[in-house]
Amino acid sequence: MADIVLDKVSKSFPDGTVAVRDVDLEIADGEFVILVGPSGCGKSTTLNMIAGLEDVSGGELRIAGERVNDKAPRDRDIAMVFQSYALYPNMTVRENMAFPLRLAKLDKATIEQKVNDAAKVLELTALLDRKPANLSGGQRQRVAMGRAIVRSPKAFLMDEPLSNLDAKLRVQMRTVVSRLQKQLGTTTVYVTHDQTEAMTLGDRVVIMRGGSVQQVGPPQELYDHPTNLFVAGFIGSPSMNFLHAAVEDGGLRTAVGDVPLGDRIRRELAAEDAPRELILGIRPEHFEDASLIDDETRARGMEFEAPVEIVESMGSDKYVYLTVEGERASAAELEELAADVGAEDLTGSGSSLVTRLSAESTATEG
Ligand code: ATP
Repeated sequence: MADIVLDKVSKSFPDGTVAVRDVDLEIADGEFVILVGPSGCGKSTTLNMIAGLEDVSGGELRIAGERVNDKAPRDRDIAMVFQSYALYPNMTVRENMAFPLRLAKLDKATIEQKVNDAAKVLELTALLDRKPANLSGGQRQRVAMGRAIVRSPKAFLMDEPLSNLDAKLRVQMRTVVSRLQKQLGTTTVYVTHDQTEAMTLGDRVVIMRGGSVQQVGPPQELYDHPTNLFVAGFIGSPSMNFLHAAVEDGGLRTAVGDVPLGDRIRRELAAEDAPRELILGIRPEHFEDASLIDDETRARGMEFEAPVEIVESMGSDKYVYLTVEGERASAAELEELAADVGAEDLTGSGSSLVTRLSAESTATEG
């Protein structure tokens, strides 16, 4: 068993910076967990504490049930993969991968076997005799991963391992990492600031901000049920749109119209301690072109007009950017509208839109 537990773990640096505060996190044996958040939120510091590269200032860190706060990195039996591949340039791929095993004083035959097995998994067999200088970025990163997996460590810690690769290679390597992790079943903690990686790679995602954990959950759960505005705005691209709303007569009033509410939300808002003002969150895909919907759908949504600023086409996906309440809003799945905008006449004029509002599609915060 190699579960990793952070129990009220904090990190303060000598200059007074509190990089991580009171983080509670339980990572199960074999789980693939992603730490994500904006620059400076404490992801790398958290990972470095698990690795033993930074001391823990407060709280307890346990790996496989054992307190490791004061244990040296080499005694923790974990392997790290960094953004910079950190390969030895004068060694071949084979020698680079064998290096940690030679340090561990394994016999020659075992080393060869383990290196060959790892090379096979990572499709590096044909490259074993090359030097790093003669490899592509993606191949180098696979060697770095190979060097981590040959040791069969208790856990892998990865800090932005794909961020030096170009966009296409990053997508390919995502598949490699994902397959590798499933195949080996080794507990993995992976740091990224890229929310696509966060949403596609892990079993669970930990969203951090200012050294604290904001929410932990499977990617879809974070998308559908963000616990606060930060998570709601951080996950999803283009990001969720926010509208100010006032609670009036048990309903919601916004600057562009009244929001029809379902019974459950109406009851919640009628409670004495319910907020009087809140932020309504609308995902881009929850806008619809009002000219294309039936009356029943229309009655369930809030219809309003908004000038279209620009249409962004990403091939199969099209996003329409609008001005709502003086702010830029983004809408997806408005194929017809996007096609019309090409003819320019909709830009700047009011386009009628309807939001589909439901408990699932919205996030509110008082
Ligand atoms: P990024 O995505 O930019 O790498 P991060 O989320 O990994 O950011 P950390 O590197 O963990 O963030 O840093 C968290 C905070 O701690 C930041 O405010 C950073 O400036 C600060 N910090 C990191 N290392 C030190 C240090 N040695 N001394 C003082 N402050 C530090």
